[in-house]
Amino acid sequence: MFGKRVIIFEKHFVVGGLNSFYAKKSRKFDVGLHAVTNFPSENSGKTSPLLRACRQLRIPFESLNLYPQKQSTISFTEKSLKFNNDFEFFVNEIEKKFPQEKDNFQALLRKMEDFDAYSPTVKEISSRKVLKETFQYSLLSEMLLCPTCYYGSAQENDIDFATFTMLFDAIFKQGLARPDFGIRAFLDPIIKKFDELGGKRLMNAGVQKLLCKNNVVKEILIDNGSVYTADQVISTCGILETEDLITCDKNSESSTEIGNFSIIESISIFEGKPSDFGWEDTIVFYNDGEKFRYQKPNSKVDLESGVICMPENYTNPSNKNITESRLRITNPANFDIWNGYKDERYKKEKKESELDMLDRALHHLPNGIKQKEIFTDNIKFKDTFTPRTIKRFTNKKNGALYGSPTKSRKGTTMLDNLYISGTDQGYIGIVGAMLGGIAVANNQILRRN
Ligand SMILES: Cc1cc2nc3c(=O)[nH]c(=O)nc-3n(C[C@H](O)[C@H](O)[C@H](O)COP(=O)(O)OP(=O)(O)OC[C@H]3O[C@@H](n4cnc5c(N)ncnc54)[C@H](O)[C@@H]3O)c2cc1C
Repeated sequence: MFGKRVIIFEKHFVVGGLNSFYAKKSRKFDVGLHAVTNFPSENSGKTSPLLRACRQLRIPFESLNLYPQKQSTISFTEKSLKFNNDFEFFVNEIEKKFPQEKDNFQALLRKMEDFDAYSPTVKEISSRKVLKETFQYSLLSEMLLCPTCYYGSAQENDIDFATFTMLFDAIFKQGLARPDFGIRAFLDPIIKKFDELGGKRLMNAGVQKLLCKNNVVKEILIDNGSVYTADQVISTCGILETEDLITCDKNSESSTEIGNFSIIESISIFEGKPSDFGWEDTIVFYNDGEKFRYQKPNSKVDLESGVICMPENYTNPSNKNITESRLRITNPANFDIWNGYKDERYKKEKKESELDMLDRALHHLPNGIKQKEIFTDNIKFKDTFTPRTIKRFTNKKNGALYGSPTKSRKGTTMLDNLYISGTDQGYIGIVGAMLGGIAVANNQILRRN
């Protein structure tokens, strides 16, 4: 939009990265989409990050066709908390279930308001530490960490306070929504605009090397052996993964940590609607026990903590006439174990995990276990992806869902004309990745020029 000639090299044959789409057995699937966070509330006005992204990309917000969630739940063994896109409802729910924490929760809201989470120079602070200092009892802290970690923490068992603040705002104060026809509602207009403006896209074109001299990237070598030049390069494939592409001498070992947290996700297509089983929640974030577990398990999958998503429980009018629906279950998983399986064993372990995951997750749905048999009979098709799939399609080391715990908020790297955007910049999710990319293009490329 500002007169630069731009080319995108994409390793995969479709766009979208972790938020892409695919078809199997004539059904369409979104890879990652549980929820578009940051659905603007009536009070969010111009400050809404999603409206800001739409404005900056010149995409009419209405064209995204977003429909809000019905309601969601944070379900722990001892207690559960419901929330929807009305923040007051969530505040009342906390005051009702944790009356002794009423003032402390208000203090946390003030702390977040006073904290400049979006600053590129923001300090790394442990949210666990902040929450421990704020609340009298630990259960509410653990329950608030559950959705925020699942929707964006690269660290195990914690999340830095800036990301916590951004995600708290994105999930609870703004809200969750889904485009009527899935993630393509975002991808198609962006691609259309990029193509119309004369941008070039090369698909199946993985970058193999960034050839450097005198601290700048001089040339880009892609998989088919072609070489391109560029004045400036933005990489979205992760800090460590980008460092691996650089050919010049690195004076010291990288100080960037490798991410460890990965997931397995199983999608069951079943006949009917979630409401046929009395399931009204859009998302359920769950944990067995009082202490929230968010870590690489020692076994292939950790069944005691996870997320359930029912995309047909958004309020889209088209959901009224559906004959089949989806139940998505996500659990923490161990990359090394999944990556080590040979093909036949991999398939067998996947099948076994699908059953175990369903069994545990049903405990967190109303009458889930009682209805297990009928629900299982209603399942027509299943598809499951593992940490190995994430590595295969995004190249992220360890299949790390949210990349490295070390972030580069300004997007700068050791080279003068190379920048990072996306997950490893520290702006997470669909909306975060878009805003992070816009910030790097604006601040590091357009304004510098
Ligand atoms: C199961 C799952 C569910 C999710 N659900 C949601 C959700 O509901 N809502 C939400 O907001 N977010 C969700 N996310 C998170 C969201 O998908 C990510 O935060 C976002 O996609 C990150 O974007 P990115 O550009 O940083 O990286 P990526 O999406 O990983 O994109 C990186 C791109 O770089 C390409 N690439 C890698 N290496 C190379 C190379 N050498 N050369 C060329 N191309 C290369 C990859 O093919 C990929 O297309 C989910 C993620 C997962 C896995």
